[in-house]
Amino acid sequence: MTKKQALPVKKNDTVTVTIEDLTHEGHGVGKVDGYPLFIPMTLPDEEVKVKVLKTTKNFGFGKLEEMVQASEDRTEPPCPVYDRCGGCQLQHFSYEGQLKAKQKQVKDVLERIGKIKDVPVHPTLGMEDPWRYRNKSQIPVGSESGRIIAGFYATRSHRIVDTDVCLIQEEISDRVMNIVKQEADRFGIQPYDEERHKGVLRHVVVRYGRTSGEVMVVLVTRTKHLPHAEDLIAVLREKVPGLKSVVHNINDQRTNVILGNKGQTIWGSDVIYDSIGEVKFTISARSFYQINPVQTEVLYQKALEYAQLTGEESVIDAYCGIGTISLFLAQKAKKVFGVEIIRQAIEDAKANAELNGFNNTEFEAGPAEEVIPAWHKKGNQADVIVVDPPRKGCDQELLDTMLAMKPKRIVYVSCNPATLARDLRILEDGGYQTQEVQPVDMFPQTSHVECVAWLELA
Ligand code: SAH
Repeated sequence: MTKKQALPVKKNDTVTVTIEDLTHEGHGVGKVDGYPLFIPMTLPDEEVKVKVLKTTKNFGFGKLEEMVQASEDRTEPPCPVYDRCGGCQLQHFSYEGQLKAKQKQVKDVLERIGKIKDVPVHPTLGMEDPWRYRNKSQIPVGSESGRIIAGFYATRSHRIVDTDVCLIQEEISDRVMNIVKQEADRFGIQPYDEERHKGVLRHVVVRYGRTSGEVMVVLVTRTKHLPHAEDLIAVLREKVPGLKSVVHNINDQRTNVILGNKGQTIWGSDVIYDSIGEVKFTISARSFYQINPVQTEVLYQKALEYAQLTGEESVIDAYCGIGTISLFLAQKAKKVFGVEIIRQAIEDAKANAELNGFNNTEFEAGPAEEVIPAWHKKGNQADVIVVDPPRKGCDQELLDTMLAMKPKRIVYVSCNPATLARDLRILEDGGYQTQEVQPVDMFPQTSHVECVAWLELA
C-alpha cells in the first residue's frame, strides 16, 4: 500500500509561484513542488503571491493576492466590467501575448495528448483590430433594485452584469441594447425574473451583416404579448441605421435556451444577408452563423488552401452547419457533399447554395457517423474530406469510415485542441500524416482556440 502523500500546500496558505502556463480557460498555472495551482488573472512568467482557496488530489485553486513581478505582456483591460463579466478571459493580456499563448497551447496539447511532434504549428493568425468583432449578441434583461438592467452573465452564473458597452460586440449591438433598456423602462415593460419565472422581456438578440450593414433585432418575451411593440419598432426604426428586421420571439419555458419555438417578424424582413468572401448567406433569427465573419474568412481560406482543389475533386464536408465551408469549397471542387445533424441548417445550406447559383453541392441531414458510412456502403468516394465537429470531436464511427474510404487528404477544422489531438492520433495510426496545423484567432480577448489541420495519406 502506498502511503498517502501530503500535499505541498493546504487551504488558506499563502505561497509565491512563477506562472508557467495558461489553462484552456485562461487561468495561470503555477507549481509548488510540482503541484499545480490554477490562478485566474495571472499570466505566463509572472511571479505572484497567491492564497490557496481549494486543493484536490492532483491540483489546487488559488487567488492572486499580490503581483511580485508582472509580465511585460500585462495590459490594462479597457472594458469597465471586465472584472465581473464572464464574457472575456484575456483582456489583461496584450494581443500579441494572446496569439502566442494560443499557438503554444495547440502545440503542447498536440504533443501531450496526440503524441504529434515535429509538425509545424504556425503562429496564430490574429485580427488587425481584435475588438468589436461579434456579429451576434444575446443580451439577457433583468432588474436590480427596481431598475431594468441588461448586459452579460458573470462567470459560471446567471447574475446579469449591467453594462452599456461590450467591446467585443459590434457597436450597433450596444446601441440597440441601450435603446431597448431605456424604452422598456419608459414604457414600463417588465423585465424577466428568472428565479420566479415572471415578467416579460427576457433577451434582446442583435444580429448584424457586416458586409451588408443590415441589422436584425429579436425581442424575446416570456409572454405571448409584447407590450408597446409598435412604440418599440418606431424608436428602433428611427435610431438604428441599417435596421431590416424586428422579430418577436416567445419563450415561455424555464430554460437556458434563449429562443423559444414561437415567433414572428413584426417589422421588415424575415432575414438579413452577409457575405464571406464571394459567398452570400441568408441569416434568420434562428440560423447558426459564424460569430466573427472577418476571421471566418481567414479560417475558410486556410481550409481551402489545405484542401488543394483543382476542380476535379469530390469533397465531403462533415458537420457542415448551413454549408459555410461547403460553399467555399464548391467554388473550387467538382462536387461537394455536406452533412449536418440539424435539419433546419441543411435547409439553409440548400437555400444558400441556390442563392449563390451553385449546382455542384448536395446536402443531407443526419449524424455524420451514420450518413457517411451509408454513402461509403453505396460506393461513394471522396478525394478530400473536411470535418468541423463540435467540441467533443469526431465520432469513432466516422473516423473508422474515413480510414476505410482513404481520401488522399483530410482537412480538420477544430474548436477544441484536446479532441483534435485525440482524433489526429487515430488518423495517424490509420495511415495519415499531419502536415501542418494553423491556429486562427476566432475569439480575441477570450480563451477559445480554433485551428485547422492538414493531413495526407502516407
Ligand atoms: N462547418 C460549419 C458548422 C460547424 S459547428 C460552419 O463553419 O459554420 C459544428 C456543427 O456540427 C454544428 O452545426 C452541429 O449542429 C453539427 N453537429 C453536431 N453533431 C453532429 C453529428 N453527429 N453529425 C453531424 N453534424 C453534427
